[in-house]
Amino acid sequence: MDTLTTKHVFAFEEGDGKNKRLLGGKGANLCEMTQIGLNVPPGFVISTDACLAYLDSPDGNLTAGLMDDVHAQMRALEQKTGKGFGDPDNPLLVSVRSGSAMSMPGMMDTILNLGLNAETLQGVIRATDDPRFGYDAYRRFIQLFGKVALGVPDAAFDKEFEAIKEAAHVKQDVGLSASELKQVSERFLRVVEAATGRPFPSDPYEQLEIAIKAVFNSWGGKRAVDYRRQFNITPDMANGTAVNVVTMVFGNRGYDSATGVAFTRNPATGENKLYGEYLVNAQGEDVVAGIRTPTAIDQLANESAMPGLAAQLDALRDKLEAHYHEVQDFEFTIERGQLYCLQTRNGKMNSIAMVRTSVEMVQEGLITKEQALLRIAPESLEQMLFPHLDPTVKVEPVAQGLSASPGAASGIAVFDADRAELLGKEQGNKVILVREETKPEDIHGFFASEGILTSRGGKTSHAAVVARGMGKPCVAGAEGISVDVNRREARVGLASFKEGDVITIDGTSGKVYLGAIPTVEPDFTPELDTLLGWADEMARLKVMANADTPNDARRSRRYGAVGIGLARTERMFNDVARLPIVIEMIVAETPEQRQEALDRLLPLQRQDFRELFEVMSPYPVTIRLLDPPIHEFLPNEDVLRRELKELHALSQAAYGMTVLSGTMGLLHKSDKVREDVDSMRRLFDPAMIEEAIGKKEAMLRKVRALYETNPMLGHRGVRLGITFPEIYQMQIRAILEAAADCVKAGIEVHPQIKVPQVCTAQELRKVRSFVDSIHAEVVADAGQAVPFKFGTMIEVVRACMLADALAEESEFFSFGTNDLTQAAFSFSREDAENKFLPFYNQSGILQDNPFETLDVKGVGKLMRLAVDWGRTAKPDLHVGICGEHGGHPASIAFCHDAGLDYVSCSGPRVPVARLAAAHAALKGAR
Ligand code: ADP
Ligand code: MG
Ligand code: MG
Repeated sequence: MDTLTTKHVFAFEEGDGKNKRLLGGKGANLCEMTQIGLNVPPGFVISTDACLAYLDSPDGNLTAGLMDDVHAQMRALEQKTGKGFGDPDNPLLVSVRSGSAMSMPGMMDTILNLGLNAETLQGVIRATDDPRFGYDAYRRFIQLFGKVALGVPDAAFDKEFEAIKEAAHVKQDVGLSASELKQVSERFLRVVEAATGRPFPSDPYEQLEIAIKAVFNSWGGKRAVDYRRQFNITPDMANGTAVNVVTMVFGNRGYDSATGVAFTRNPATGENKLYGEYLVNAQGEDVVAGIRTPTAIDQLANESAMPGLAAQLDALRDKLEAHYHEVQDFEFTIERGQLYCLQTRNGKMNSIAMVRTSVEMVQEGLITKEQALLRIAPESLEQMLFPHLDPTVKVEPVAQGLSASPGAASGIAVFDADRAELLGKEQGNKVILVREETKPEDIHGFFASEGILTSRGGKTSHAAVVARGMGKPCVAGAEGISVDVNRREARVGLASFKEGDVITIDGTSGKVYLGAIPTVEPDFTPELDTLLGWADEMARLKVMANADTPNDARRSRRYGAVGIGLARTERMFNDVARLPIVIEMIVAETPEQRQEALDRLLPLQRQDFRELFEVMSPYPVTIRLLDPPIHEFLPNEDVLRRELKELHALSQAAYGMTVLSGTMGLLHKSDKVREDVDSMRRLFDPAMIEEAIGKKEAMLRKVRALYETNPMLGHRGVRLGITFPEIYQMQIRAILEAAADCVKAGIEVHPQIKVPQVCTAQELRKVRSFVDSIHAEVVADAGQAVPFKFGTMIEVVRACMLADALAEESEFFSFGTNDLTQAAFSFSREDAENKFLPFYNQSGILQDNPFETLDVKGVGKLMRLAVDWGRTAKPDLHVGICGEHGGHPASIAFCHDAGLDYVSCSGPRVPVARLAAAHAALKGAR
């Protein structure tokens, strides 16, 4: 890197507010806000490039000349503020803050009040005429600098601090007097000296250089590295941290001073109203650390010492939104009635809030519909369909906290992050992390937990912010709970719970319950309906649902599916009431016996189809003929053998009984006894037992006859339909008769018959011939036209290769990408996922799990070939996908690109798919 020509240090007035890569998100926004005239304390940014150069340098030195530039900028700051850095008469103090291209809340370090030493401290005290304030700032600086820049653990400071609080008989920091805080700072200086073996650095420029290096180093710290790994933040997204040097402003200068954080709109509900918290007479870190429970922002208007500030804050909010066209999450400080903005970034919201703000910002003219759609990650919509507590279950909560992150969760209580990791991640329990407050170093505990409960801190405390970012439920500041980490238990009023006890938290209401409470599925909000309506307008792909039952179908329809792309008939076979008939059909020895069973199944299937048609009318319903190998419906061989053994034992007992009763007869006992013996003998009737044995043996023979070494590649799908034509014929009849019934009842139907596992055109022709002759009969019976479409699954490699021939016989193709992926890789899914796939992923041999993320390179190429060849043979061929990939946004983008007409996915994925389809169209158009 050329140190002479590359600029590394930028005043807020000159930095490019769009260049987050170079200036970090915080730095770029501080520049931007300065340049649009918001009241930001003067400062400058040192670039991420300078960070990378420093981290790369073999000698651990900052880039040559960097500190000269920093000196120049500090002189400019002195000019702007009229203060002097290190000047005992009128000292300038600064903060040294981290900030990379991606926001990583609390993951890297910030030092406040830098520039203080014994002399400048006296200057501060003289200038403010407030010794208490001076010593408070000083002790904060010593601890932060000691911890962040010199690596002195917090515990060493906390011990001294607690000792002094105890001696002074006060609970809160604010209770300490100036002279007590003076003692604190003196003890802190000794703590640092003892830990580092050197006196605390007093030269402000030396402090500044050490601080800059410390912030740079925090980029490579464990916390930050873990965070980036967890959230897949790669170097092309963020590389290195910038350093922001910002003139200090003080929210702890009395009752006309405050510090706070706010969202321009409510990040939990999306409500268009300033949302946040503040603390009077406090410094910024107090809010974030959750040490004091802050006040809700709408109370600011009532602070008599700060008149007009609420209105100013509202004006700031409007300017931020008007400029950024996005909900902002910002930090502010009020120093003696003067409002400063210290940071802003796009607000992280849950999906409910994302959807609502998207819709409302379009209605307010702040953004376009396209922007509204593109600002929401499709995956996140699934969150909205997360369960909430069953409202019909009336259980009294044991505690009320703040609704910090919505959603409900039950799990066993754990009281520290390591235990959460052990009991949750490693042992597979559902756990709720219960803490007094959380800190960045607890992050691994969050990952392992279903939800987070804290007894202290506000809605902008660390716990709340991180949980919202992860989409996990969180109740914060449940002050009724007192947590005893050492004994791993918590007390709530008269009750208590300890580690391992199940509790339930509801992050939407802030309530905490003992025990597990059932949850129910939530419904669509009107805003989601509006938004997805826009999505449908923009999308080219249609979204259908995979649904087997009328209930599934109803739900998918509510979620916006425009048809069923896959109804699996085997699920209808597996019903308890039907299974005996299905089994009879399978074990039938003669065609007549089989037909008799099928005749009983026909009306049941017809009813199934009719309900699906009604629920989905006027949209198409695609029914796949029976796919799995039929032995799947028969009992397990081992179970059968065990039962047979028991029947044989019973048969022996029956023989004994016969002998016994004969003997009884000879002895000529009383009538009563003879009757008892007779009834027992009837129970052990040898003839009945023999018959049962005969049936079981027949079943066992059948199970053995149908046994397959590799059922997934065996006698299934259309192969079954060709060898046992009666089964498919029954299903085809049921579909067409149900359709005819609907037509007669005036219900619009579009049945689509889909054949699974096809590999040759001849298979399709054969099944088509069944369809044609049954259709002719049904139409003749009904005396009306009965519409239907006929098509094939494409899930065998050969089907892709012969797509043109298959298209001749089909009106539609439906890619079954689960099987097609297995076939393309020659991986069996279960074995792959349980054995080698994780290893393949870790070692980078395969980047993704192809069963989750469509393998665009291989399977995708097969699909493209099939689409092209299919459409060459039949230009109006309708093509879709019905594998699990149909609900996966990246795969949906591929399907759009490959020219598919629709995707079909499970009901809860339908909203995700609708938005993803719009994204694909909007991004493809660009
Ligand atoms: P983070 O990225 O962890 O939020 P910040 O750099 O934003 O770290 O700073 C931590 C806290 O210190 C915030 O509350 C912030 O508002 C406050 N702070 C930072 N710089 C200043 C400053 N110059 N004057 C007053 N408060 C500051
Ligand atoms: Mg911040
Ligand atoms: Mg399949």
